[in-house]
Amino acid sequence: MSSRELTATILEIQRMSTEDGPGLRTTVFFKGCGLRCAWCHNPESINRRPELQWIGSRCIGCRTCIDACPAGALSASDDGIAIDRDRCDGCGACADVCPGTALELMGAEWTVAELADEVVKDAHYFGADGGVTASGGEAALQALFVAEFFAELKRRGVRTALDTCGHCPAENLDLILPHADLVLFDMKEMDPDRHKQFTGSGNRLILDNLVRVGDYVRERVPRRELWIRTPVIPGATDRRETILGIGAFIAERLGGSVSRWELCAFNNLCRDKYLRLGKEWEFGEAGLIDRAVMEALAEAARSSGVDPSIVRWSGSTAAGEGEEGAEEPRAAVKRPASC
Ligand code: SF4
Ligand code: SF4
Repeated sequence: MSSRELTATILEIQRMSTEDGPGLRTTVFFKGCGLRCAWCHNPESINRRPELQWIGSRCIGCRTCIDACPAGALSASDDGIAIDRDRCDGCGACADVCPGTALELMGAEWTVAELADEVVKDAHYFGADGGVTASGGEAALQALFVAEFFAELKRRGVRTALDTCGHCPAENLDLILPHADLVLFDMKEMDPDRHKQFTGSGNRLILDNLVRVGDYVRERVPRRELWIRTPVIPGATDRRETILGIGAFIAERLGGSVSRWELCAFNNLCRDKYLRLGKEWEFGEAGLIDRAVMEALAEAARSSGVDPSIVRWSGSTAAGEGEEGAEEPRAAVKRPASC
């Protein structure tokens, strides 16, 4: 298959992002992820297939959608329009006829050329540091496409970053790394049982892939960059032992390849996404983490054996903002899947 025919399922293109790498960036969110993190901030990105969401505040109750659905997947309920997700195949016919734009199909197929043409429209604000980040979901699950996409961006002079949870075949990363200037790699928990409890999978593959990425980054000239991101989740990863364990791994196994380790404070701004998808979310009522807790965990990170200067924390807290002046929570802004 030529790169002109390659397609990927893209959830969203987010412009002017400041959270997915250095400078101002355009972030492309790919659909599909092999992990099931209990705290996931982008639940609409987990399923590889396009998914329908119903936004009640826009619905005028006309019921046009019910008749338009060829699969009989829609019905009226006490709460509005109910979606039978076993029947829905994501054809989009209902969204096409909805006069209130209350039905949205999340996810669409793009070719490499289409996507590259779209994101380079933003090149004027990338500056020296910014560029394009492939995020998700797990972008590396669509590795052939990401590799071609990044190669095309490099030909057009755009800097590239891969945001990954590392849960993918090692060969997928091998395809992408030669075309990525920066890798943002999630490290959530070192204990394999706890990792499985929170994400649905153990962490052996992830840690092996991380070492592989570290080796690649360290040996490359010109040097690539590797950033580690750890989501600090109440009742899950907000433990000193978790941070010390991750720090020890970075210090012992990644040998100076990591230029930044960021602890990302949890927020629950994505809870409406779960409602629209008809999913329950155990973190819906969880509050912001105390600033003192983030500061203590950052201090633990600095004492864990890594170069202390690489440690940062970010995000809004119960009393103040992150070290780099993170903004107040913005409901409309899509967060990295982990952070
Ligand atoms: S077509 Fe749109 S506005 Fe009408 S009932 Fe369906 S979701 Fe609501
Ligand atoms: S996307 Fe297609 S199958 Fe799904 S509810 Fe809408 S019309 Fe029916």
